[in-house]
Amino acid sequence: LFRGFITAAPKETDMEFRVGTAELRIPEGFKGVLVKNLYLSCDPFLRSRMREFYNSYIPPFTPGSARTIRQSLCSDFLACDRYFCSGVVEGFGISRVVETNDKGFRPGDLVSGLTGWEEYTLITGTDRLRKIQVDEKIPLSHHLGLLGMPGFTAYAGFYEVCSPKKGERVFVSAACGAVGQLVGQLAKLHGCYVVGSAGTKQKVDLLKNKFGFDDAFNYKEEPDLAGAMKRYFPDGIDIYFDNVGGATLDAALLNMRIRGRIAACGMISQHSLSLKEGIHNLYMLIPKRIRMEGFIQSDYLHLFPQFLDRIGDLYKEGRIVYMEDMHQGLESAPATLAGLFSGENVGSRSSVFAEN
Ligand code: NDP
Repeated sequence: LFRGFITAAPKETDMEFRVGTAELRIPEGFKGVLVKNLYLSCDPFLRSRMREFYNSYIPPFTPGSARTIRQSLCSDFLACDRYFCSGVVEGFGISRVVETNDKGFRPGDLVSGLTGWEEYTLITGTDRLRKIQVDEKIPLSHHLGLLGMPGFTAYAGFYEVCSPKKGERVFVSAACGAVGQLVGQLAKLHGCYVVGSAGTKQKVDLLKNKFGFDDAFNYKEEPDLAGAMKRYFPDGIDIYFDNVGGATLDAALLNMRIRGRIAACGMISQHSLSLKEGIHNLYMLIPKRIRMEGFIQSDYLHLFPQFLDRIGDLYKEGRIVYMEDMHQGLESAPATLAGLFSGENVGSRSSVFAEN
């Protein structure tokens, strides 16, 4: 599905996308489920896996060769047994079970979990598939965003890593994205003052008028980011939920309050750089006694059932809203993925199979 490893911001042309058909063979003795994929999610971590060496929690893809994920260094995150081959991109999806010899599933069950960018996928290691409890008040696709991995990242990161207190001042970057929009809304429900940054006027308007942030600014129009943050946080930032790293993190470090917390969720500004932008203000951690903590959502999976209940209820009560960016057809997936790195998406992005 993709040409090879890339060091710049990904473009659609970096991904050689071939749509083909092949006979679906279920190997003899196969244990698991055959699913039909309905929605596929495009997430920033997919780009990280298109880099040759990446000392991360998730291994790189191997273009053009079959391999077992279990052989990876990071079997903890991908503790499943399935094969993917010839560079089929693996990512989160929502699927319908077509056939199964796993007693935990029945044909027709709707599931979410790691699947392939393909119409049908054979999945073993079904412990990593979650059955979806269908609720007519919640769109099925929300199980990829609001009630899926990005929503859970916001939930675990905000409550577990940020240690929020009522009245605190919270700053969120990439605030209109799949993770950021929920972080801001949770912070508001917690009684915090919340400001978000995003890269277009449309997103800034959404943050203020749809997601209920107290304020928002377009970081691309701010030559002095530290000065901009000072305007919105004259008394400093207690919590910075960092989705972007780079210059925004540098500016936030200068504006943190004493004993502030920085949740290092993602550094999308760094994904595509072979030479990293330097952080100049890291020493601020010391005089300001800032706690900066990186986290991976999968460390908190024990909280997933509680997350589903709480966020599902808040959504049904109309106390939170969620935006998705949907594209039709598997063919749209490479452009959708590339668009994440130029900020084209508003909210979580999915490619939808035409006949779902
Ligand atoms: P988003 O939906 O926020 O999409 C990415 C957004 O990042 C873009 O829309 C764009 O918005 C912004 N962006 C892209 N390039 C840059 C740049 N160079 N500088 C500043 N902003 C940029 O993605 P997600 O919500 O899915 O993910 C947000 C972050 O969280 C990512 O860094 C991701 O890697 C991380 N993540 C971490 C997880 C964990 O467990 N730690 C799990 C899931 C995600 P804009 O228009 O505002 O520029």
